[in-house]
Amino acid sequence: MSLVVSDAIVLHSFDYLESSRILKIVTRDAGVRSVLARGARRSKARFGSALDLYAQGTAELHVKPGRELDTLSAFEVTRSRPQLAQQLARFTGASAIAELTLRFVRDAADPSLFDTIAAAFDDIASSAPERTRGVTLGGAWRVLAELGVAPTVDACADCHSPIELDEAVMFSHPSGGALCARCGRLARSGRTLPAEAREALRGWLSGGDVLLGSPQDVRAHQRLLREFLREHLADDRPLRAFEVWERDEWTGGAA
Ligand SMILES: [Zn+2]
Repeated sequence: MSLVVSDAIVLHSFDYLESSRILKIVTRDAGVRSVLARGARRSKARFGSALDLYAQGTAELHVKPGRELDTLSAFEVTRSRPQLAQQLARFTGASAIAELTLRFVRDAADPSLFDTIAAAFDDIASSAPERTRGVTLGGAWRVLAELGVAPTVDACADCHSPIELDEAVMFSHPSGGALCARCGRLARSGRTLPAEAREALRGWLSGGDVLLGSPQDVRAHQRLLREFLREHLADDRPLRAFEVWERDEWTGGAA
């Protein structure tokens, strides 16, 4: 049994037996882990509100080789992010980021990926209502980039020749991004990406703040992200939280 002390974020939580909880957390030093918090429901003193969804803090894990469930002995919260529960778009956005993390992040140390996930939650928590979906899109694209599947934006994904900034391009999911005019004509499938949409993608991937023009733009970007995810990462299982986040936009969900 070894002790791991690491920054961690609570991504999922459910009751276990009479008094305990099982959590899924992402850690800076050991990737995504399942942990047992013994007595977490019986005694508030033990963990307090530290184990709330999206809370971040220092976790002490007891890890036994070959066992899937670690034991959580302490969790000292440093950021609780209550703002994520205060608005629907923030909550569904955070859920989509959590789902991406749980589905695709492995159980290995990756400080840069952890910081990108933490920043995505912070950005969503502090976002103005009309910006929340765009901020979530930016966070999701940066998490994908950290996972090694960033789309190409300024060079052709097939022949690597540069593409002018103001060009509308063909975006090919199988190729992995924007195509030059020549490769675009040869592509068997793809989606036209206007220059502004490519600029938004470039902005998100470089860590910038992007203001989307209209709900239609948001929907188009959500669809692009969903298709890209399906092509490059997803297994056959549906991404339910992502679907809820995306559908919420369709029904014009409040804030
Ligand atoms: Zn090309």
